[in-house]
Amino acid sequence: MRPVSKLGRLFGPQAGIVQLMHDLGTAMTVNPDMLMLGGGNPGSIPQMQQVFRLSMRKLLDTGEFDRLTGNYGPPAGDPRFIESLAELLRRSCGWDVAPENIALTNGSQSASFMLFNLLAGEFDDGRRRRILLPLTPEYIGYSDQGAATGFFLSNRPQIQPLNDGLFKYRVDFDSLQIDDSVAALCVSRPTNPTGNVLTDEEITQLRVLANHHGVPLILDNAYGTPFPGICFTEATPVWDSNIIVCMSLSKLGLPGVRTGIVIAAPEIIRALSGMNAILNLTTGGFGPALVRDLIESGEIIRLSQEIIRPFYQGKAQRTVGWLQSTFDPAHLRIHKPEGAIFLWLWFPDLPISSTELYERLKARGVLIIPGEHFFPGLPSPWQHSRECIRLTYAQDDAMVEKAIGILASEVARAYSEGSA
Ligand code: PLP
Repeated sequence: MRPVSKLGRLFGPQAGIVQLMHDLGTAMTVNPDMLMLGGGNPGSIPQMQQVFRLSMRKLLDTGEFDRLTGNYGPPAGDPRFIESLAELLRRSCGWDVAPENIALTNGSQSASFMLFNLLAGEFDDGRRRRILLPLTPEYIGYSDQGAATGFFLSNRPQIQPLNDGLFKYRVDFDSLQIDDSVAALCVSRPTNPTGNVLTDEEITQLRVLANHHGVPLILDNAYGTPFPGICFTEATPVWDSNIIVCMSLSKLGLPGVRTGIVIAAPEIIRALSGMNAILNLTTGGFGPALVRDLIESGEIIRLSQEIIRPFYQGKAQRTVGWLQSTFDPAHLRIHKPEGAIFLWLWFPDLPISSTELYERLKARGVLIIPGEHFFPGLPSPWQHSRECIRLTYAQDDAMVEKAIGILASEVARAYSEGSA
């Protein structure tokens, strides 16, 4: 291949997310027997699939389908959907939002790319500004999104031990440094990869810090309330003109339609829509059309609370049970599952790195994600990052249980090698 530009190299095949998507794609297609605990694919929920099928049929029967597929929409996305969503957010969350506070993007992955690069990077005076992740581990999909090197700065968490081999990460405000180089703060809540939900107090403190330093706070709400509502603990959904909330239709069960939602101050929305026009002309209309009636009626909130949340909460509880009954308790700590579709496991003093464990498991037909990838921007190496893995429990229960048996035996082998 010809030499690639600096920018091309940044977005090249060595990027963590590219390798991850490659492994996941291969596992799902070339090797369908792979036990899939990697990836962030939502589970298949029959009731939700039926709702989307009916909605699609209505689009076809009413001729809406032709309008949808035959026209470009405006750069910020379908105005009728945006209007209904603003109304829903005002009603259900009490947020003071209007259509000019909302833009749609082709997935929230592209929303964070555009936002990060609008807010951070190189400025006219030659200074570089960065995105601060106040608590790592954080979403792997951010790590390669900066169109410059050194784009992220991040902070280790405090580790709070809990009963039953559980623990919880807390933002370490004592060590959180915010200087002029910070352009914005960003957290996912519920968090991918840990299933953590930052407490209301932590969010309040982050808001105060962001306001004090005159930078926005990005809250990635891909799993949160009001939809898809994969949150098993009390967490107030917050928004104000200094907060940028990112949402998505993916975890409702629609990752294929690629619809992300950004709620922010009008000047951010205008800048984002402009960038979206340059990159994409407009945003695909399928996702908004499929869920517009559910948003208008508020049914989306009922489905989130009564179908989606219990589906994942049940899976989380069962998976924790299988882990606790299969592992030597001395070797396993589990981050308290408070939301999202993942469990984050910590094997204290694991004698091999989590990447080595990943390779050994892949050879035995189990796919997980090694923890190292979830710590972008940490100023110094941290042994803890090599002792953790992420797994998803969204897929079929029997498969998850079988994979956990293999995981437990590989982890036990690694510890016994270490003590030999
Ligand atoms: N943010 C978080 C925290 C995620 O976990 C994901 C996907 O897994 C995304 C954003 C991207 O989602 P989307 O499918 O809307 O691009």
